[in-house]
Amino acid sequence: MPWPVGKRWVYSVTYDEGCAALLDHVVPLHQRHDLPGHVALVASQIGVPRNVPGSSFDGLPILTVADLTGLRAGGWGVSCHGLTHAAITPSNAAEEVVRAKAVIEATLGWEVPIFCVPNNNDGYPASRQAAPAAGYRAILTIYDAVNPPDVDPWRLARVPIHSEYPPPFYSAWDPYKRLHQARDLGGWVIDYCHCPLPGRTLHPWKDCTLEQLAERFETVRRVGGEEVWLAEPNAVLDWLCNAPGDRDGW
Ligand SMILES: [Zn+2]
Repeated sequence: MPWPVGKRWVYSVTYDEGCAALLDHVVPLHQRHDLPGHVALVASQIGVPRNVPGSSFDGLPILTVADLTGLRAGGWGVSCHGLTHAAITPSNAAEEVVRAKAVIEATLGWEVPIFCVPNNNDGYPASRQAAPAAGYRAILTIYDAVNPPDVDPWRLARVPIHSEYPPPFYSAWDPYKRLHQARDLGGWVIDYCHCPLPGRTLHPWKDCTLEQLAERFETVRRVGGEEVWLAEPNAVLDWLCNAPGDRDGW
């Protein structure tokens, strides 16, 4: 296994859009579990109400630079979720992937080396095409899978943890989703949701509730024990870059 000594698998969790309401309940929950989180931020929408008409999260306040600086000091990380949250295509990638990196880094004042594909995986091929030359080193997707020990940083899978999943199955909430698979594979689970709230979701196909998130963390700790490394994705990538082996091409 490529993971730190004594660790058999890895668990991370990411919150797309970076809603300011994360500060109310989700961040304190992370602190109780000593688990650093990660937010995927639309580069043009930091510290302002979200402006993505039609989105379930349109109009919600987004974390400010000061908020994000504080989270970073607590071990949290960020990724770039496009310039405007437009679906990535070959014709807009220069703006939405390349210029977005410069904009988010100028706003935050630190390097942001992970791109997070907005909308859905249809934007992945154009993102994959543009991201390496833009200076990124990894891409977060919503392909629902466990990342294996020889993970491809350019196609990081994420596991949706939502209260319910779309038709035709309407799969019910499962706090164990992919955890035993990750343990057996020695893999890396990167959870994906938006802004869990007490007792409700803004959209059941895009989020879990705060109580379900707490159950998820408790389940990770019960299944993982001392063998799971609770880590922020940038820290995992740093570890893999520096791990022995043939990862020099990163
Ligand atoms: Zn998004």
